[in-house]
Amino acid sequence: RDLVKTFPGRRSRTGRPGAPVRAVDGVSFDVGAGETLGLVGESGCGKSTTGRMIVRLLDPTSGTVTFDGTEIGGLSQARLRPHRRDLQMVFQDPYSSLNPRQTVARIISEPLLVQGESAAAARKRAAELMELVGLIPEHLDRYPHEFSGGQAQRIGIARSLATSPRLVIADEPVSALDVSIQAQVVNLMERLQQELGLAYVFIAHDLSVVKRVCDRVAVMYLGRIVEIGDKAEVYGSPAHPYTRALLSAVPLPDPEAERTRERIVLLGDPPSPADPPPGCTFHPRCPKAQDLCRTERPLLRIAGPGERQAACHFPEV
Ligand code: SF4
Ligand code: MG
Repeated sequence: RDLVKTFPGRRSRTGRPGAPVRAVDGVSFDVGAGETLGLVGESGCGKSTTGRMIVRLLDPTSGTVTFDGTEIGGLSQARLRPHRRDLQMVFQDPYSSLNPRQTVARIISEPLLVQGESAAAARKRAAELMELVGLIPEHLDRYPHEFSGGQAQRIGIARSLATSPRLVIADEPVSALDVSIQAQVVNLMERLQQELGLAYVFIAHDLSVVKRVCDRVAVMYLGRIVEIGDKAEVYGSPAHPYTRALLSAVPLPDPEAERTRERIVLLGDPPSPADPPPGCTFHPRCPKAQDLCRTERPLLRIAGPGERQAACHFPEV
């Protein structure tokens, strides 16, 4: 609820501290048990920072993170420990997130050893997890570089599952992988979700990756959610101009539909969160911007039938 993360601003050349940067600026959402929420937006929009705050790899500047009725956003690391089992994270780059000097057995066991499990029990569990993610348990004593990118990400997934979590934050888990193996890893994550009853927050920079896996989707722009709702509603009739633009870049399978479709090309790059535009922060790039948009910040509110919300003065409904 109302998650905010502020980073100190860069110092100027004269040594004066810059204005603090609000990387995440008041983000709220829920994730149900066994559900997948897609969290989508361009790089730098705050989606990874949001994910890291949920698992407390980063401390929120303000706001709350409630897991199963317990507020964990403000707990000390010591008091957080019993909850650590329930919340785990899969990272974008499998190689840089796996310690190259540790064996796979050690990497996958780590979260269990932290929880006080014995070395023998942790190793046995690591072997089971290797099997669960489609790897060969006999390869436990190998090192990360001996695996392909797809296999390395399976190791990252196995590690995230070691403590039998109930929520996994997957931060662009396939974007560093070859296109040909992305589907295999997504399939694996779907199967694991069904078998283990996991909930996912699936972070991605475009809407096509999460289309298959998510139940609901939230679109972020410059540290805020600009649209959130059921997959069918958001993909079927996007209400926010930014969502429409992102969706118009997703290729359609039918060549004729692809040729005749509406294409919205956004001008320029997202503005810097250090110096956000006034009013609607999307207005410099929005094809529908009007005077009101330059002065008044639109808040998230119900747009159209159902539960879908959009932060736009002139939503498409
Ligand atoms: Fe565009 Fe205005 Fe809506 Fe912002 S509030 S997305 S500028 S139409
Ligand atoms: Mg990121």
